Parts: sequence; structure tokens; C-alpha cells
Amino acid sequence: MFNKEIETLELTELRELQSRRLVNLVNTVYEKVPFYKKAFDEKGIKVSDIKSINDIHKLPFTKKTDLRDNYPFGFLTVPESELARIHCSSGTTGKPTVVAYTENDLELFSEVVARSLAAAGAKPGMKLHNAYGYGLFTGGIGVHYGGEKLGLSVIPVSGGMTERQINLLRDFKSEVICCTPSYAQTIGAELKKRGISLSELNLKYAVLGAEPWTEGIRQQVEESLGVVATNIFGLSEVIGPGVSQEAYDEKGTGSYIWEDHFFPEVVDRYTGEPLPYGEEGVLVFTTLTKEAMPFVRYWTNDICSIDYDQQGSRTHIKMSAIKGRADDMLIIRGVNLFHTQVEELIHDFVELVPNYQLVVTKQGIMDKVEVKVELSQNYGKSQNVNGVLTSEMVNENEKLSFLSKRLGKKIKDNIGISMNVTLMAHNQIPKSEGGKLSRIVDLRE
Ligand code: ADP
Repeated sequence: MFNKEIETLELTELRELQSRRLVNLVNTVYEKVPFYKKAFDEKGIKVSDIKSINDIHKLPFTKKTDLRDNYPFGFLTVPESELARIHCSSGTTGKPTVVAYTENDLELFSEVVARSLAAAGAKPGMKLHNAYGYGLFTGGIGVHYGGEKLGLSVIPVSGGMTERQINLLRDFKSEVICCTPSYAQTIGAELKKRGISLSELNLKYAVLGAEPWTEGIRQQVEESLGVVATNIFGLSEVIGPGVSQEAYDEKGTGSYIWEDHFFPEVVDRYTGEPLPYGEEGVLVFTTLTKEAMPFVRYWTNDICSIDYDQQGSRTHIKMSAIKGRADDMLIIRGVNLFHTQVEELIHDFVELVPNYQLVVTKQGIMDKVEVKVELSQNYGKSQNVNGVLTSEMVNENEKLSFLSKRLGKKIKDNIGISMNVTLMAHNQIPKSEGGKLSRIVDLRE
């Protein structure tokens, strides 16, 4: 662990720390940020009402539109001359938002990324191949300094130019790679295409984030890169990557949120009411220690649940994998749909790989979804698909049609929506070129 004392702090002490920090925070933002003064006054909240972390639910939310309305520096609590860095979010869902950091904020950013990389398996002395994009996006530079803080030697490759990525992985023998899960898929596919065996590389850990992903992609990436792959989560408004991280020896049980700095809540997406641990809703964060641009109850729009893990190595709360963003949710004939729900089902088919796209169109008044999904590269080499095929089904087309019907039925049975399944040859679905990949093509007006 990078910071054992804090990562294993008793819950009662953690709550005391959070309470002290929250009281400080509300005092600062009320005094320094006109948006919060107005929002507190409108809700009739006095700063003195906030005595402990248990009072957090009284406070107003902050939404992305509030940041846009106060573009670029309306949320600053310090003079611009005290800033040490300015970043923007990727702008995946519209105009990017601006975030700013003081020297202390950058120190905090490096600390939580160092904790995260250590939880992912990285150890001082290892090399980190950082294929997150460098630039305004917080991913590249955020991971960079956290890696250095942990004592890694960081290779600032950035995203894209896949051939060069592979040459560097092979030549430098990096043990750790950071990138989006979809870009890890691209690198894995390229290795295969070029016939490069895993023994020519030295990768051990992949730290993947910036977009939703599921177990099927984990398995594919672990096999194709020869790594243990874990989830790193974050968003610019809260700090950047390193808000939470899955531990490499606790895979599949959620990602630790570094809650001494980022206090999480999950709330009902329609009413904003706090939900009990384990229930799915919108993730909300209060930045307890950030100086330049702290946020009270920032509405991430990401859908997940949070809960404590009594078996976990750390005391901090864990968040489940993000299902999707509330504004990325499709409503198809009245049924809510996140693309990760389809991704999870694809995982059950050995003949398929999780390279897929959901194409949404409108026919008359009906929404139609077509699932385009790639056959595995080995498809056809082992003809007996799950042992279900009969000896009469020798015709290749018949096998493919049987396979697409099985996936279609599985989707209908599990999600409740009929979708047309189109099987694509290997490498036919657009892949990540280095950054976040959109799995949904919405052709409706
Ligand atoms: P933008 O919101 O413009 O994409 P960011 O680059 O700050 O800006 O990205 C943050 C968002 O990326 C999060 O709110 C979340 O939707 C997504 N994200 C980041 N990490 C993960 C992850 N590990 N799993 C799922 N989604 C993630």
C-alpha cells in the first residue's frame, strides 16, 4: 500500500476526518464562491448547520451545467495567480468543463494516483507505459505524476500510433500499462496481428479506465496482454483519474474510493434522495480537500452502487463498475438500456469477442437496435460451438445464423428488448485509436 495508515484508517476516525474537512469546505465555498453562497442561501442552509459528515445531505448538488454557467473560473476559491495547472474534461457529453489546481491540489492528485497504481500491483522500480492521452485531458498527466510519486519510471507515450506503442512495450519491457480498456483491446489485437508473442513483452499489470467496461473485456485484455487488469476511475471535476481503484488481488469486488479526500454518495437519479449502500443510482462526490476548485455534492451522472467490503484489505468504501452515464442510457420501446448490459451477455459466448457496436435507428415510430459484434479470431477453428450443433448443421451460414439467434434470444430474455444481431468478421468493428470509444451509434433524429 502506498499510504497504509490512511488506506486502513478505522471508520470512526475516517468519519471524524471527513467531518472536520467538510466543515472547512463549506466555510470556504460559502465565503469564496458566489454560486455556493446563492445556493446555500436559497436552500436556507447556514454554514453552522453543517457540523459533521452526516449533515452532507442537507447541501445542494453541483451539476455540470453549473460549471458551464460559471465558465471558466467562476468556481475558483483562490486568485488565478495561485493556480499551478488548468485542465479540461474530455467533453464526451458536450462542451468541456474547466478544472484548476493549486500546488497542493497537484500533490493530492499525485498521492491518490500513487495509491491507485500501488493497489493495481505496481511497485517502485517498475516501468509504467502511460498510453492515456496527454494534454488537456486529466488522464495522461495525472497518471504521469502519480506514477513518478510511487517511484515508477514513467514513459509518456500518450494515446495512438499503436505500432509505436508495441515497439516501445517490446523494447523497454514495461511492467505496467495505463490506457482505456478499449485501447488495451486495440493493442492486444495488434500484437496478435503482428505475431508478437507475450514472451517478447514484460507486461504484468494493466490499469484501465476513463470509460465503462465489463468482465468480458477484462478477460480479453488479460489474455491478449498477459496482465492482471484492474479498474481506475475518476473524473476531472473531482480530480482526474485516481478517485477510485480496484486492488489487483481483489478483482471483481469493486474499486476503493479514496474517501478521505472524495466523499461519495449514491442518490436516486430522479429525486436526488440518498440511497442505501448497495443500491444503484447516480454517484455524487464532495471534494473534501481540494483547494482551487472544490465541489460540494458534484453530480457525476455515472450510475453505480457503493458499499463496504468487510473482507477488503483497505477500510475505504468500494464502488461497483460503472454501468454507464445517466445521459448515455438509451430508452428503447420504454426499456432502459446501457451498452454494458449487452457487453456482459456477449461475454457468455466463446465464439464472440467484446468488440461491438449498438446501432439505434427509428423505423416508423419504433426504435430498432442492431448489435454488431465480432466473431473471435479463432472462430471456425473449433467448429463445435458449445457442443450444441448437430451433425446436420454443416453449413457455415446455418451455424452463424444459429449463433446470432442465440445471442438475440439471450438479450431478449435478459434485457427484454428484441435486437437484430449482425455477426462481423474479426477486426470489422471500429476500435479505439487511443482514447475513449463510443459503443453506441444513434441514428435517430
Ligand atoms: P468527460 O466527462 O468529458 O468524459 P472526463 O475525461 O473527466 O470527462 O471523464 C470522466 C468520466 O469518464 C466519468 O464521469 C465517467 O463517466 C467516465 N469514466 C472514468 N473512469 C471510468 C471507469 N473506470 N469506468 C467507467 N467510466 C469511467
